[in-house]
Amino acid sequence: MVVNSVHWFRKGLRLHDNPALQEALNGASSLRCVYILDPWFAGAANVGINRWRFLLEALEDLDNSLKKLNSRLFVVRGQPTDVFPRLFKEWKVTRLTFEYDPEPYGKERDGAIIKMAQEFGVETIVRNSHTLYNLDRIIEMNNNSPPLTFKRFQTIVSRLELPRRPLLPITQQQMDKCHTKIADNHDQLYSIPSLEELGFRTEGLPPAVWRGGESEALDRLNKHLDKKVWVANFEHSRVNTCSLYASPTGLSPYLRFGCLSCRVLYYNLRELYMKLRKHCSPPLSLFGQLLWREFFYTAATNNPNFDRMEGNPICVQIPWDQNPEALAKWAEGRTGFPWIDAIMTQLREEGWIHHLARHAVACFLTRGDLWISWESGMKVFEELLLDADWSVNAGSWMWLSCSAFFQQFFHCYCPVGFGRRTDPSGDYIRRYIPILKDYPNRYIYEPWNAPESVQKAANCVVGVDYPKPMINHAEGSRLNIERMKQVYQQLSHYRGLSKSTNKAKLYIHHSIHVTVCCENAVLSLASSVVTDFKRGYNPSHSSCHLLNLCCFCRRLMQCCTAAQQQAVLKKTCRSHSSFQND
Ligand SMILES: Cc1cc2nc3c(=O)[nH]c(=O)nc-3n(C[C@H](O)[C@H](O)[C@H](O)COP(=O)(O)OP(=O)(O)OC[C@H]3O[C@@H](n4cnc5c(N)ncnc54)[C@H](O)[C@@H]3O)c2cc1C
Repeated sequence: MVVNSVHWFRKGLRLHDNPALQEALNGASSLRCVYILDPWFAGAANVGINRWRFLLEALEDLDNSLKKLNSRLFVVRGQPTDVFPRLFKEWKVTRLTFEYDPEPYGKERDGAIIKMAQEFGVETIVRNSHTLYNLDRIIEMNNNSPPLTFKRFQTIVSRLELPRRPLLPITQQQMDKCHTKIADNHDQLYSIPSLEELGFRTEGLPPAVWRGGESEALDRLNKHLDKKVWVANFEHSRVNTCSLYASPTGLSPYLRFGCLSCRVLYYNLRELYMKLRKHCSPPLSLFGQLLWREFFYTAATNNPNFDRMEGNPICVQIPWDQNPEALAKWAEGRTGFPWIDAIMTQLREEGWIHHLARHAVACFLTRGDLWISWESGMKVFEELLLDADWSVNAGSWMWLSCSAFFQQFFHCYCPVGFGRRTDPSGDYIRRYIPILKDYPNRYIYEPWNAPESVQKAANCVVGVDYPKPMINHAEGSRLNIERMKQVYQQLSHYRGLSKSTNKAKLYIHHSIHVTVCCENAVLSLASSVVTDFKRGYNPSHSSCHLLNLCCFCRRLMQCCTAAQQQAVLKKTCRSHSSFQND
């Protein structure tokens, strides 16, 4: 029987270790490699220009590699459900292969395509290669639910066999047996679109800091492995200024798009370790980072609400504030905290920031300072990160905001001290916020504390050339820790009760939403609002917004004495339940 294969690329944009692609070749007379892209959807989706550029470069690289094997990539415009019936008929397809997608949306989409293929008499072959392990197996070994602590996850993984060995790249010999029919007008019909075609304006676009594609991924892998000393000693190098910049050994966008196989990385690390350590088996911790990735994938695979708070069974329900103005300042790097603003600028310009930089800005947005929902931060990361990954991104945001997995809410990152410890001279800030470049080291993390003469000498007056800090961090974080404490106290009460009745569960669930209000913290914040007034800060930009005062309260605040304000706050904030409603 003649086998006409189509391999459908989605993630997994590579020719090495691609088991589904190998299946497509197996005994086939023809092969077409397809990528489906809907230009309309591309423009409308929440994906920034840097990630699109990365994807298009990865597709070009794939096309070039296929050309060398006398084949081509077919980029087909449209939606999979519309495109496949046409292709099945036109190309007389008998076999469709693709990589298993463990995410809920992907599983649903693929289920529909498999059903459709069956109706057309097309055989489908799906192979796992985006994760090291079979995630369903991990869930099964944890009494049919995903492990929710990393420790538990590691315990289960340690009982599993090693991940499957990676496969070799496809070869000329294999391709010689399997013809790709390429039309003369191939480029007209199936070319890779440009950024302009996707609706992006490209004038003034700086060159990419991260180049997409399998070739670049494999180059980087070699550099990554060159850090032999690190592998041998298994040391985590201390974070310093250099760690904050885009690194030629960074791999996350390549793993995200599957330009690099996680199994290739795993086995290269393993073999190198064993070579350097005289055949000692590596500890599980050598693969720590890769395992975090698997951990989040496992937690998300059966949870379609993993990327939201409501309806998400593992997410603590927290009454976050709605504050679009504060969110925009954070997202656009206008918080008035140079450390936070530099990170958000690097993210927007380059598409990647260091893990601890992600901690800093995520904590600042959520439980640390602004008390804004992790979902909003996750969406900004989703747009701007090259490595934005549905499971890992949502999981990390829940973790950082103490909404799941991690509950040490009594520790907050300081938006001044954390940066200063990492990069004492402030070079990182100077690079991403050039307006602050002439500030002396002493004030670069807190320019608002510099004397006026210093601000003028540095040609950057705070409040004129660079924003004032949008919040009083000490006060804000104190209040937020208190709020989080209340949430967790309610939760532990809830957990205690959960053993009793469902009615009690419901009651507590509701009360977590409505009663997070701490009188002492409100009063202490109130006095800081008064101080802010005295310093001339706009109250809506100060810790005042943390109190989430209604307009009525704000107006009252402006014409009261400090003692009256405290009394007013005590009454109005509580009677208006204004922590979440204003
Ligand atoms: C709020 C927040 C959001 C994040 N969103 C994402 C995301 O969308 N996509 C993403 O890949 N990572 C995300 N991370 C995890 C981590 O920050 C990045 O994977 C890491 O910075 C990538 O840099 P690297 O390639 O140098 O990693 P390395 O340290 O060299 O690690 C190797 C690989 O392991 C994986 N990895 C490393 N750390 C983690 C981690 N903590 N969790 C899961 N996988 C990890 C990555 O694929 C990475 O490329 C997020 C972290 C935080 C705090």
